[in-house]
Amino acid sequence: MVLPKTEEEIALMRENGILVSKALAEVGKRIAPGVTTNELNRVAETFIRDNGAIPSFLGYDGFPAALCMSVNDVVVHGFPSDKPLEEGDIVSVDCGTFYKGYNGDSAYTFAVGEVDAQTKKLLEVTKQSLYEGIKQAVAGARVGDISHAVQTYAESFGFGVVRELEGHGIGKKMHENPGVPNYGRRGHGPRLIDGMTICIEPMITAGKKDVYLARNGWAVHTCDHKKAAHFELTVVVRKGRAQQLSTFDFIENQ
Ligand code: MG
Ligand code: MG
Repeated sequence: MVLPKTEEEIALMRENGILVSKALAEVGKRIAPGVTTNELNRVAETFIRDNGAIPSFLGYDGFPAALCMSVNDVVVHGFPSDKPLEEGDIVSVDCGTFYKGYNGDSAYTFAVGEVDAQTKKLLEVTKQSLYEGIKQAVAGARVGDISHAVQTYAESFGFGVVRELEGHGIGKKMHENPGVPNYGRRGHGPRLIDGMTICIEPMITAGKKDVYLARNGWAVHTCDHKKAAHFELTVVVRKGRAQQLSTFDFIENQ
């Protein structure tokens, strides 16, 4: 049973959404060849704490950092490191906040310098697949409508849709019901209710969809080591049209 959030709760979640969105933008403006993901992690952690919030990923099931930093063939859950980013890399930055009792969660995949045309396409299509999913996040629809929209859009470009990980409800806990897979059948899955808050987060691969878990138990890699992209927004299900609680505007309009 998934309960919708009250308007008071949604307002607090929007504050979290703005905070994660701004934290991602703080990271984004520093992304360049030669910068390490550890440096970027510190930027985000400082920003989050300076705003009175807690970086919710730090210590989550033992995760060692404020950000998941997933470079190239790492799909999600990469650890930040001292390895400098290189021209042509892509890096998924996933950020979570805990503020006033609620959670924020968003991710954006950045190009490092110039990337090749296929990689550029992967980023564009993954982000658009997220927006295609959001279009379906309306009261009365089903989770499968979101899943199906994400999957069919991404696959129409020949990209792979990772099956092993999914989006999720969000609120007082970072991961709540329902799960929101990136593949599925229209008209199936839990019913979407006005006021439900969910994270939609396509994880899309340039090659085959298959992934494996690294020996550290966290980083998820593509089996063929082709690049993967990951974009995530938090939205509230509404009648007619979902509202975004987080946004890429701070990244893209700065
Ligand atoms: Mg996330
Ligand atoms: Mg998430």
